[in-house]
Amino acid sequence: MTTYRVAIVGAGPAGYFTAQALNNSINDERNFLIDMFDRLPTPWGLVRSGVAPDHPKIRTVTKVFEKIASESNYRYFGNVELGKDIHISDLEKIYDVVVLATGTSLGKKLGIPGEDLPGVISAADFVPWYNGHPDYVNVNPQLSGTCAIVIGAGNVAMDCGRILGLVPHELNSTDIADHALDVFHDSSIRDVTIVGRRGPEHAAFTSPELRELPKLTETDVFIKEEQIADAIARVGSRLENEKDLRSNLEAMREIAHADRRGNERKLSLAFLLTPLEVLGEGRVERVRFAVNKVIDDVVTGSDEVIELPCDLLITAIGYEAAEIPGITNERGRVANNEGKIRDGVYVVGWAKRGPSGVIGTNKSDSSEVVKKILLELPAAPKGSADISEHLNGETIVTHDGWSAINVAEVSAGEERGRPRRKVVSWSELLSLGGVKTT
Ligand SMILES: Cc1cc2nc3c(=O)[nH]c(=O)nc-3n(C[C@H](O)[C@H](O)[C@H](O)COP(=O)(O)OP(=O)(O)OC[C@H]3O[C@@H](n4cnc5c(N)ncnc54)[C@H](O)[C@@H]3O)c2cc1C
Repeated sequence: MTTYRVAIVGAGPAGYFTAQALNNSINDERNFLIDMFDRLPTPWGLVRSGVAPDHPKIRTVTKVFEKIASESNYRYFGNVELGKDIHISDLEKIYDVVVLATGTSLGKKLGIPGEDLPGVISAADFVPWYNGHPDYVNVNPQLSGTCAIVIGAGNVAMDCGRILGLVPHELNSTDIADHALDVFHDSSIRDVTIVGRRGPEHAAFTSPELRELPKLTETDVFIKEEQIADAIARVGSRLENEKDLRSNLEAMREIAHADRRGNERKLSLAFLLTPLEVLGEGRVERVRFAVNKVIDDVVTGSDEVIELPCDLLITAIGYEAAEIPGITNERGRVANNEGKIRDGVYVVGWAKRGPSGVIGTNKSDSSEVVKKILLELPAAPKGSADISEHLNGETIVTHDGWSAINVAEVSAGEERGRPRRKVVSWSELLSLGGVKTT
């Protein structure tokens, strides 16, 4: 039996599914010892800091992650950042296989004038703020106006729009961060518009997310009926063959036809608008859009321009990876700064594919990468040096440390009928996780 040591950097879905696929390939001839690193004291990646708090069922995938973490071949090293606390060359010395599962955490910019005005924030800041990521506690979005616009036509834009549009008591029993719950209770936002550049037929929303909108009892949801009718006419016979497209357009048509209850809170979906400029004296007040058309499935601009009032602008147009010193991502393989492929180093999940796909997509992706790893395993493993020698043991949050954080959060939540109350400060997370803080 040959035992290989594997470092997985990033404790999100891609990291855990890689560990799972490696475990599934253990046999009489080979075994794996898996060390998982994350820059945060807490694992689970975007399942903790991205998935919307009003979607608790999605978070049940963490049971799979915890099962992997309970195996005897697994160790967790939280509060260890690749590129800062440890370097890829340290990992390469010790591990036979290094897998980077570090995701994509930076929000893409619109690149238009006025984007830096106060009142404009990226979903890449807004979402981790309401989800209690310790780096985003001070984002402080201003919800004192009445109109919000979310730019983007994918599920992240939908999450931001829905969370802003909900009556706050609907969030009371979720695991949303306490600081965000307080701000949403004080919010005076009443009109939220999610704006896509292309047509309804091109939107990246998935239909379950669209279908839950008409079920909101205290928020009226609007889509212009003619935008959906025009989209249905444009796609024509494709509707018969393309199941997802059909399901999306049917869901949008249902929203367009849904009865409105006269609620004070309104959530609208608007299409074919390209943001040109963010306008305002000292902070965002309006957004200027070009009105687009679709000709032969291609979106083109027109001379028509409109302005919409806006007190809060959230941009949700995608993510890109933060730079990690010493490495570049070359089509799914990892290279050094000179572009040379690093043998034994692999990349998975959003770090590899970019920000696309749901949690489950990372499972098939990780399985594919593990197949490649198995084919390329070295004949002889590197030996028995331990990574602990390269790290300051006193600053690491181990799996036991994370378990202590988890228990504290869940029991604080139970007192209030919530799944958990997240600890959001670095110092408290570290101290609960067993790290001495001065
Ligand atoms: C706002 C939002 C909502 C979503 N909602 C859903 C949903 O409802 N349902 C669904 O199926 N999918 C959803 N997704 C998609 C899903 O979250 C992703 O498919 C998945 O999280 C990608 O997994 P990953 O492991 O590649 O990246 P991530 O989940 O981002 O994990 C990356 C991990 O790497 C760590 N890391 C980063 N850099 C370093 C470093 N230098 N050193 C050490 N650690 C590092 C991070 O702390 C993080 O824990 C959502 C995504 C977003 C952005």
